[in-house]
Amino acid sequence: MTVSKKELGNDPNANNGSVNAMPTTNTKGKNRTQKVFIETYGCQMNLADSETMGGILAEDGYSSAETMEDADIILINTCAVREKAEERVFGRLTHLQPLKQKNPNLVLGVTGCMAEHLRETIAERAPNVDLIVGPDAYRRLPDLVGDKTGGQNMDALVDVKLDKAETYEGIPVKRKPGVTSHISVQRGCDKFCTFCIVPFTRGRERGVSPEEIIKQAHQSVALGFKEVMLLGQTVNSYKHTAEDGTFTDFSDLLLQLCEIDGIERIRFTSPYPTDFNAKLISTMASQKKICKYLHLPAQSGSNRMLGEMRRQYTRDEFDTLVKDIRTAMPDIAMSTDIIVGYPGETEEDFQMTVELLKTTRFDFGFLFKYSERSQTFAARNVEDDIPESVKKDRLKRIIEVQEEICGEIFPGRIGSTVEVLVDRDAKRNKNQWVGKTDDFKGCVFDKKDNGVGPGSIVKVLVTGATSHTLIGEQVT
Ligand code: SF4
Repeated sequence: MTVSKKELGNDPNANNGSVNAMPTTNTKGKNRTQKVFIETYGCQMNLADSETMGGILAEDGYSSAETMEDADIILINTCAVREKAEERVFGRLTHLQPLKQKNPNLVLGVTGCMAEHLRETIAERAPNVDLIVGPDAYRRLPDLVGDKTGGQNMDALVDVKLDKAETYEGIPVKRKPGVTSHISVQRGCDKFCTFCIVPFTRGRERGVSPEEIIKQAHQSVALGFKEVMLLGQTVNSYKHTAEDGTFTDFSDLLLQLCEIDGIERIRFTSPYPTDFNAKLISTMASQKKICKYLHLPAQSGSNRMLGEMRRQYTRDEFDTLVKDIRTAMPDIAMSTDIIVGYPGETEEDFQMTVELLKTTRFDFGFLFKYSERSQTFAARNVEDDIPESVKKDRLKRIIEVQEEICGEIFPGRIGSTVEVLVDRDAKRNKNQWVGKTDDFKGCVFDKKDNGVGPGSIVKVLVTGATSHTLIGEQVT
């Protein structure tokens, strides 16, 4: 399959860009001629899901289309976290109408969270859509696509049944080539924050078996990946009990992954603050392979708003957690998610969030204004009462605060030497490499004729910085 990534969600580790497919594996021996193109919107979990869908369809004999124009089947894998993301998808579906007119046999599908969230609206607003498939129904994609290509239906086929047992074990995932392999270790979420659509679109939390995760990690090494990124909505609440009663928590899982030769770095996103414990902090601190970077979503600095949002911690507890983590790992980098303009947020509440950023000094932040999502507790029970102008103003002000902090932290690294996992050519200058430091800072440096390339880990002396990127010179 070809998977391209069009829009980023609030996932700090999301990456962007077109993805060429791995070779097709048709294990069912089906002689198909149809080609599939998958376009992905949203977080890294969605990118991983697109790779899973690619694997399921390849196993059934479908091959990859390089472009949408070349495809017999186009799947748009969508995000529902914010209204803007959904509107973009509707725009995309309209944009694809000429392709449908040109090729009446083209099958157009909407998959992912928006399919789950807006199944009826999609059918109404985008009558050119043939398939509406939720995140737990991907195993049935070959049948669904087959029904449509057989021309048996005029209305969209809808399959949005959530399945509390589905973890997509045993699927030969078609990974996007690169240096980082994304492995979903958990699906769904049990937290039900009042603003969040995820528990409704992805169902209840369940952990993938450690055997499956370890198998995928070994496969990733064999494919040349150097880093694994473990994905879950509250990834550190990961747990799995085997049939023989063997219990594995997130720390246990990390330790098992650290044992795998060929994996140089391990990252995970996104942890939930109250799912940290002393065992996990000490596991992170003791294992060199576990990157010293954490995305720790705070959402607000006001106890009152945290309560309203049904986050399961107080401001004091969040501050204590940050302190404990930094005591164990003094150089760890952190980022966060913040929502401003949640219903009822006063200027005083907002100032507490500003103060949280100023005192915690996250290395970067993912800052958003509240966007009401239907079905959520907040949408059903709380009036979205903060005027848009106030939301925009607060967002602008909090971005300025964080930018100032980034503008101090990044240049503060000048003169230090960092280890960079080379990812690819720098976008602006093909004579430079770009990669990530252990603590997840982008770093660019000039290429040399020394065999370094994607997947190399090199030492770089930081000689300059913007507020979001380190600039350096390779020293080994
Ligand atoms: S923890 Fe809260 S914000 Fe995160 S996915 Fe679950 S419900 Fe959504």
